[in-house]
Amino acid sequence: MELFKAVVGRGSASVGRIAIRAQGKSYSYNELVASAFNVSNVLRNSVLTTDDVVKGNKHLGGARVGIVAKPSAEFVAGVLATWSCGGVAVPLALSYPEAELLHVMNDADVSMILSTDDYQDLMKSIAVKTGAQFSLLSPVICLNSESVTGDMIDVSDSLKNEKSEANEASEEPALILYTSGTTGKPKGVVHTHQSILAQVKMLSDAWEYASSDKFLHCLPLHHILNCRVSGVWQRWQESYPKDGSKVNDAVTVFTGVPTIYTRLIQGYEGMDPESRAASASAASHLRLMMCGSSALPLPVMQQWEAITGHQLLERYGMTEFVMAISNPLRGVRKGGTVGKPFPGVQAKILIEETTGDDEKVGELCIKSPSLFKEYWKLPQIVQVRSSGLNSSEFHKLQLCCISISSSSFLYNPFAMASWQVTKESFTEDGFFKTGDAVRLDEDGYYIIMGRNNADIMKVGGYKLSALEIEAVLLEHPTISECCVLGLPDKDYGEAICAIVVPDAECKRRQDEELKPSLTLEELTSWAKEKLALYKLPTRLLLWESLPRNAMGKVNKKDLKKKMTVDG
Ligand code: ATP
Ligand code: MG
Repeated sequence: MELFKAVVGRGSASVGRIAIRAQGKSYSYNELVASAFNVSNVLRNSVLTTDDVVKGNKHLGGARVGIVAKPSAEFVAGVLATWSCGGVAVPLALSYPEAELLHVMNDADVSMILSTDDYQDLMKSIAVKTGAQFSLLSPVICLNSESVTGDMIDVSDSLKNEKSEANEASEEPALILYTSGTTGKPKGVVHTHQSILAQVKMLSDAWEYASSDKFLHCLPLHHILNCRVSGVWQRWQESYPKDGSKVNDAVTVFTGVPTIYTRLIQGYEGMDPESRAASASAASHLRLMMCGSSALPLPVMQQWEAITGHQLLERYGMTEFVMAISNPLRGVRKGGTVGKPFPGVQAKILIEETTGDDEKVGELCIKSPSLFKEYWKLPQIVQVRSSGLNSSEFHKLQLCCISISSSSFLYNPFAMASWQVTKESFTEDGFFKTGDAVRLDEDGYYIIMGRNNADIMKVGGYKLSALEIEAVLLEHPTISECCVLGLPDKDYGEAICAIVVPDAECKRRQDEELKPSLTLEELTSWAKEKLALYKLPTRLLLWESLPRNAMGKVNKKDLKKKMTVDG
């Protein structure tokens, strides 16, 4: 409910104000809230039992409501409706195949699915398979449409004044967000009203969100990046714009993942001079362009600045705490780093060992008011772990918890993997272990070296960061994308394999001359000027594209497994 109140604003303050623009229409807060009230009636009528109704109980008691819709007013109405009557929203990824949707629905025990008509056939059949109820999200009625312009109320100001309220906000679950699935099956991360509000305030303060801001969103809405209740105007697009000239319409803030900027740069390079000028100048009224979710290669940051004059702000986040570390809005933004922790965030590095360069590298651990409550269905773990049970008692309890939580869980090997993940996710003193290896630079800025279990390679006794090698390879003039992996090697433990996507010009030459566009010898003789010998790839693969998930990330763990099996 707290989040619902925060979005709706105080009293009539935000009534006529535009909240979002989607599919060419502008929707006021009023219109979204009116629609949310209708949807919440549907939810109550479907989820509550006769007994509840007799007792006058209007609260859904944390029932999970799956929401399936493109970025739209209907999506927002569905989420608001769920919060307004005590449900937990579970936004579902539109890109998931049916098996994945079924997994999430079963895992989250979704009792009601809300979907727009474009997904109804699929979602109705999933509802039948999972025993959930189904209801159509009818179109939000847009009365004022284009006419709502003036009288913008500064909701972000009113949020700033609500600091004390956030501390008292409910610890009830509000959202279950599934992680990007980069290292395995997506995990259900439970956020509370409090953790989300804390995050919104943190970002509002750090990046100075104001009522004059207009966001352009083009990332999937099920993802944590889009979990914003900041009260600023938002425009949503289903996919990223193909060229920079679409990033206009008085947008002031844009956030993307590295792949989006890479594609925008590629689009820009293929344009005629006139379109290039239009595209570059379209970005001029933006005050902030951000990037995160995976490492932003330095060449991409530099090229973006050369084209638009904008220095990208790179930050670091995870579904489990949203954002925690960022380059500053004002002050020095350092490429290749993710900046420093936000005020209120505590970060520490569990130093494990040094790299070949004697840098101190360790696992990043975070404590923050925005930290998630638990991995869904695994809340017992932390308590059980600290309750002093011996290992056989612990094992019995573990089996018992698994079997009572759901039958699909019992036979699901992924569930066992998550169990392991949750069990080991916190330090004794309550810091969340991110699984990401980091080091500090000379100014105390954090450098992400990569995921412990996918980006950190052990080669001949050295611990190497795949991200560092990728950043260098991307400077090569004919490489447009690359991914570096450690593959098993009997002499060195792991061998460095570079998978490279050559640029279009390079591919054209390859086709004409019928020879590989880039050889390992050429690449290593170029790279040895920039990398120590033990960091040079010993295998090179040229691919048409890299397999990326909805967030533009490569699942290296899967790729590694597949390549090891395939040889
Ligand atoms: P899963 O947990 O299912 O494997 P995921 O970790 O990719 O998926 P997210 O929560 O979306 O799911 O992503 C968080 C991860 O993204 C971080 O742990 C980190 O590895 C990576 N990441 C986020 N921001 C950056 C950044 N600026 N630079 C490098 N890596 C980043
Ligand atoms: Mg993760």
